[in-house]
Amino acid sequence: MSDNYNENDDSNSQEKKIITEEENKSGDYEDVCFVCRRPESKAGKMFKLPNNICVCNDCMHKTMETVSQFDYQGLLHDPRIQNELDQMTRQGGIPNISFVNLADLQGDGGIPNKQKIKKKKKEGSQPVLNIRDIPAPHKIKASLDEYVVGQEQAKKVISVAVYNHYKRVATNTMDEIEIEKSNMLMIGPTGSGKTYLVKTLARLLDVPLAIADATSLTEAGYIGDDIESVVSKLLAAADNDVEKAESGIIFIDEIDKIAKKKNTNTRDVSGESVQQGMLKLLEGAEVEVPVGANSKNAMVPLATVNTRNILFICGGAFPDLEEIIKERLTKTASIGFNSELKDKYDKDKNLLSKVTVEDIRKFGMIPEFIGRLPIIYTLEGLTKEMMVQILKEPKNAILKQYQKLLELDEVKLEFTEGALDAIAEKAMKRETGARALRSIIEEFMLDIMYEIPKDDNIGRVTITREYIEGTGGPVIDIRCNQMLDDMDKLKAVSVEE
Ligand code: ADP
Repeated sequence: MSDNYNENDDSNSQEKKIITEEENKSGDYEDVCFVCRRPESKAGKMFKLPNNICVCNDCMHKTMETVSQFDYQGLLHDPRIQNELDQMTRQGGIPNISFVNLADLQGDGGIPNKQKIKKKKKEGSQPVLNIRDIPAPHKIKASLDEYVVGQEQAKKVISVAVYNHYKRVATNTMDEIEIEKSNMLMIGPTGSGKTYLVKTLARLLDVPLAIADATSLTEAGYIGDDIESVVSKLLAAADNDVEKAESGIIFIDEIDKIAKKKNTNTRDVSGESVQQGMLKLLEGAEVEVPVGANSKNAMVPLATVNTRNILFICGGAFPDLEEIIKERLTKTASIGFNSELKDKYDKDKNLLSKVTVEDIRKFGMIPEFIGRLPIIYTLEGLTKEMMVQILKEPKNAILKQYQKLLELDEVKLEFTEGALDAIAEKAMKRETGARALRSIIEEFMLDIMYEIPKDDNIGRVTITREYIEGTGGPVIDIRCNQMLDDMDKLKAVSVEE
């Protein structure tokens, strides 16, 4: 489904952004030392060199010291060498040696963007969020309803949690009672709308969002992304504005893939260690992250981001979790007169919603990690009816998108109820959730998109169950037929009146 969000795009556009003179004068950006990459707020006043290059006091001193120590065998004090050097300087420099103009390395004009990061606002200035601007939970849910089908419980939980979180951020302190962070753990089968729910939420709230994949994370020092790179992604999504990033949302997908590995003797650098490493981020810590890169080793400025007000949402499919829940439920109910049949829960569709912290711990998440995700909720697997709704109801439903595309060719696209059923049935068989819908529609719409523009007379295409199942073709109406039909309908209406 078309989404405005594309994390890669975000980072690219931010890379290319050059800070204009005006922005520079506004005082929102601060200088970064060319040598050690520390910003002015950390390194102190900068020496300003030509071409907008700044060097901090420490680095300047170090350079001077190094230069003054460089006196090869006392040559600099030899009067003959001194004379030569003086003469060369008078003639305009040392022959055959040209100094590299540092500005040339920075690319095109303007102020080099990598030399600046946005300043943190001083205390007492307006907070990014105003408590009155935060929509009430029922309003958040109503907006989510327009896009996300079903998942009532999840939408309700997420609306309340987000509302509380931003209330906490906006008030900052609540007397002595500190409100705890409401990080969330979202459990649901693949394609049930986990990512979609978070993306929609971030768009509605207009806060920066970073989506990271837990599988790519490893303990610092090993091949893979450092855990802190998720914060760096968020900073990129917030256009390098540290303050904006600090009230953003980080969604970590596939969190079940960092479960503790069973029966291993080797160091678990991408499982348990990642959980350990994430603890301090989830709780709230100051992290130094590179601006515009994933690695601290890249020659880019570092910014300090506090994760205290960043909302973390972890999501995963947690396969096999149902088995663990089933085992627990049957164990508690298998003794005595009230004992139940072992297969009682086999057909229970809502088994996942009976999950407890204990089950997740058994799955392989460490208790400290689960403890920092106090809000746990589940998403239901999609039913056939939900699939049909997803096809036609959301604001940017797939069918609406295709209808709009064909409308540009002045062709009406219609689907019979049977066709929608057939698409949903096909999608259910693929077991990849709503993701299958688009690929199924792509398959049969290809021919239609290819053939329709050939003939200007076509006025309406109706997709039928037979066409989806491959036993027939779509119903095609020529423009005049369609007009006659429309006139018949109009007549019928006027007769009724
Ligand atoms: P996952 O749960 O694996 O993260 P996604 O959120 O990426 O799945 O869902 C894939 C696509 O399916 C989304 O882009 C969205 O278009 C569609 N989708 C899934 N669930 C729903 C839903 N409940 N309502 C509307 N669209 C949905």
